[in-house]
Amino acid sequence: MNKDEIKRLQENWFRINEPIGKMLGYPDCCIKAFCDQPPELLNGSATKDDILRYRAGCIAGKFTGFIPCIRHAHQILNGDIIIQSLINNRRKDLPPFPSMGEGDIYGE
Ligand SMILES: [Zn+2]
Repeated sequence: MNKDEIKRLQENWFRINEPIGKMLGYPDCCIKAFCDQPPELLNGSATKDDILRYRAGCIAGKFTGFIPCIRHAHQILNGDIIIQSLINNRRKDLPPFPSMGEGDIYGE
């Protein structure tokens, strides 16, 4: 895969996920970090950072669906902030974080 193809994948993934991330109240930096990794670029082997970010996205061992950027993941895992404090301007009709409200977002 060349650079242009990677960029195109990232842009498409951003177009799909950025509005959802905004709707859910996620910070821009975390949305961007998530969107830089479209599924096509994940080769199945999670990096150390990926694992930290996933772990930071869990509350009491349960995954919230929110994957913070690496900077925020460190802050959460260090206990400097709580994950809930990152959620801002979440759409009012959605259930409060960490509830995903799949019915609204994915139309299931
Ligand atoms: Zn972030």
